Amino acid sequence: MEVMNVKKPNILILGAGYGGMITASRLTKELSANDANITLVNKHDYHYQTTWLHEPAAGTLSPEKTRMEIKSVLDLSRIKFVKDEVVEIKREEKKVLLKNGELEYDYLVVGLGSEPETFGVPGVHEFAFSKWTVNGAREVKEHIEYMFAKYNNTPEEERDQLLNFIVAGAGFTGIEFIGELSERVPELCSHYDIPKEKVKMYVIEAAPSALPGFDPELVEYAMNLLESRGVEFKINCPIKEVTEEGVILASGDEIKAATVVWATGVRGSSIIEKSGFEAMRGRIKVEPDLRAPGHDDIFIIGDCALLINEEINRPYPPTAQIAMQMADTCAQNLKALLKGGSLKTFKPDIKGTVASLGGKQAIGVVGSRKLFGASANFMKKMIDNRYLFLLGGPGLVMKKGKNPL
Ligand code: FAD
Ligand code: NAD
Repeated sequence: MEVMNVKKPNILILGAGYGGMITASRLTKELSANDANITLVNKHDYHYQTTWLHEPAAGTLSPEKTRMEIKSVLDLSRIKFVKDEVVEIKREEKKVLLKNGELEYDYLVVGLGSEPETFGVPGVHEFAFSKWTVNGAREVKEHIEYMFAKYNNTPEEERDQLLNFIVAGAGFTGIEFIGELSERVPELCSHYDIPKEKVKMYVIEAAPSALPGFDPELVEYAMNLLESRGVEFKINCPIKEVTEEGVILASGDEIKAATVVWATGVRGSSIIEKSGFEAMRGRIKVEPDLRAPGHDDIFIIGDCALLINEEINRPYPPTAQIAMQMADTCAQNLKALLKGGSLKTFKPDIKGTVASLGGKQAIGVVGSRKLFGASANFMKKMIDNRYLFLLGGPGLVMKKGKNPL
């Protein structure tokens, strides 16, 4: 009997973030080993939870807690893992250029995440901390501690700005980071023998409110709490430049600080624009089935995808919640392409938003319920643990999970 050698299609997933990891994990369940070759490419051999990074950045959680070896959670007998950096997608040739080689695909899933948005403000890359990655978080933490360590060894007339900390942007990232830092400052002051009043923490926001668009009562709760820990908000104050000395506001005023943490939002991975896709701030406006317009073989998920919320005619915010849901739909649609069936339209199911404020404090809206304080903190930790559960089951929650109480 003659055996036909049918070539299995190559599914190539770029990026092992929320989108890439869930896609890979779902595909191993939706497809059998004979259906396709699955390859995952990522810069590092570990996956990290971006949504936890404000904690190691402020030094309230070990960076080890926020990452895990990819081989410890994905079945690498079913998925080929390639540790490399994506350089460009060559759409016409159906291949991806890597720093150390190239890979061909029949189907591509792009989940390369985001990069900091500067809105053209000069000096961000040179003088601010803006990388929300494990290594970026380590750098901020070490720098903060060094500023404290340096203070008592610096002549009085030169040391004022060492303990001035500026957070640019009062979106959720900025608020969550200052929540952690403000919670840690008393401990740092005590450790380095520094009076607490020497520390100045500013959150500078361009819009007329912190957390623009979020529930005003919860915004007020967060601001009052953070102010009680010594945080000063400067609202309606766009930053126009970051310098070696601090920041310059649109008004022309200067605030000096040895630490500027940039959190004014994100744009999609630069690989998107470099590869010639039509994009808005690095994000591709995807078709309802999550494919890139004009490309039946390319799915875009997570922060690289732009999806319009028709109810308000504005893009959905780039969140892990949506990235994970997109990954689910993407895996099902890949299965439909390989095994037959119709492709699903992606519809986000927004369960709510919960943000930590440091310590046992948080705020949030879940369904129609407003939460703050301990109940919001409980919910936030449960959301963090739920993700670990989805990815690695109860074992991963036991190993990396957070105590919700
Ligand atoms: P990511 O999870 O960022 O993953 C991208 C992956 O691609 C990474 O592993 C990266 O190393 C890899 N990569 C990037 N470039 C390359 C390359 N060239 N080659 C190879 N690999 C590459 N969202 C929520 O829903 N809830 C929250 O509570 C929340 N909190 C947040 C807190 C912070 C501090 C921040 C910064 C964001 C938060 N977000 C939250 C947003 C959320 O983290 C993102 O929307 C989510 O991570 C997007 O998932 P993704 O899979 O698109 O990208
Ligand atoms: P964002 O876009 O939500 O907020 C950025 C803030 O920076 C805005 O309020 C903006 O007005 C301000 N800003 C912009 N330019 C400025 C300037 N020049 N000077 C001063 N302020 C300026 O961005 P983010 O907070 O980084 O969040 C990114 C994404 O991640 C969002 O989708 C967010 O919802 C999500 N996220 C969610 C959570 C959570 O759910 N707990 C936590 C963090 C991030």
